[in-house]
Amino acid sequence: MWNSPKVGILGGGQLGRMLVESANRLNIQANVLDAENAPAKQISFHDGHVTGSFKEREAVRQLAKSCDVMTAEIEHVDTYALEEVASEVRVEPSWQAIRTIQNKFNQKEHLRKYDIPMADHRELVQGTPEELAEVGEQLGYPMMLKSKTMAYDGRGNFRINSKAEIPEALEALKDRPLYAEKWAYFKTELAVMVIKTKDEVLSYPTVETVQEDSICKLVYAPARNVSDTINEQAQALARKAVSAFEGKGAFGVEMFLLEDNSLMLCEIASRIHNSGHYTIEGCALSQFDSHIRAIMDLPIPAKSLEIRQPSIMLNIIGGATPDSHLKAAEHALAIPNASIHLYSKGAAKPGRKMGHVTVTAATMHEAETMIQPLINVVDEMRA
Ligand code: ATP
Ligand code: MG
Ligand code: MG
Repeated sequence: MWNSPKVGILGGGQLGRMLVESANRLNIQANVLDAENAPAKQISFHDGHVTGSFKEREAVRQLAKSCDVMTAEIEHVDTYALEEVASEVRVEPSWQAIRTIQNKFNQKEHLRKYDIPMADHRELVQGTPEELAEVGEQLGYPMMLKSKTMAYDGRGNFRINSKAEIPEALEALKDRPLYAEKWAYFKTELAVMVIKTKDEVLSYPTVETVQEDSICKLVYAPARNVSDTINEQAQALARKAVSAFEGKGAFGVEMFLLEDNSLMLCEIASRIHNSGHYTIEGCALSQFDSHIRAIMDLPIPAKSLEIRQPSIMLNIIGGATPDSHLKAAEHALAIPNASIHLYSKGAAKPGRKMGHVTVTAATMHEAETMIQPLINVVDEMRA
């Protein structure tokens, strides 16, 4: 057996909390760097946590002193702090991978060298209306204006339908470093969780994701109406893209499936990911289990990443009232085979991810039937 190593986690939100659940089951102490009483700390009682932010150099240094290997639940961390501590503690995935990935434009420039198909895009250097109009000429409308950095849940995206909307788009994303992307006319969005170990690149099956207002709402695992060939191709593309980065652990790969059945990469996250939450109930090893094992060099049998039963994950997002999410969870209590995860984040705000529910069943159709009443409840509660 391993000798009680300690893992340091930058960030203690819901992803950190679910990582801690996995670490706990292996007797691995997880030291979390985040605000006091962050969701991940609430389920982990010991004196190894650090109070502060994953963007503060000193706090990252302090966490490094308390653990054997360091990882992150979020890509928006101070990678210069990680670079500095990498000589004293293992950092997984590498700070270089996190630094490249956290800037979506740099991520794409890097992936271009590896022949990964992506939507055509242009950097905005001055960020003026004239420059963006010129880009609009090249990419056509609609196009997606995107912040290079600090993007999540679509906060950092602005769809521009015509030249007339350019001023509004620049105002919405002002003071942020920008690039623009050609519109991807996808029929479905797909995602694959990739697990990079010390000597292998493994993947979970391809899932289908449904975004509403650019926020992930539903995940169908496996993806519906997708052939075995596309499932294989999506996994192969995801593994190839993740292989372009150094370091171990889970990576979430988002893709577009276009009308002609070709695949295009949307983006990579250097961490456990919302599209992989279904693995907690759907697979023998969850993405969180696999991440912990990958960074600790523990075995991961490929078979344990297969889907045992069709699964649907529904996000519980903050709605019209501060307790909307609790009402949704209450509803889920009565649904057979529904596993409820509340994140204990405190006050709900519209659009904030407060929890999720996963339903598994013998067939996808059965799972769809069981979760539909909850989807109706969630739709009614939208802000
Ligand atoms: P995340 O929370 O996944 O990190 P994000 O804020 O980084 O999201 P993206 O993943 O780039 O944003 O985009 C969010 C969603 O917006 C996508 O899932 C897709 O639905 C839509 N989208 C993004 N880029 C394009 C595009 N080029 N064409 C059409 N739709 C797009
Ligand atoms: Mg993103
Ligand atoms: Mg995304």
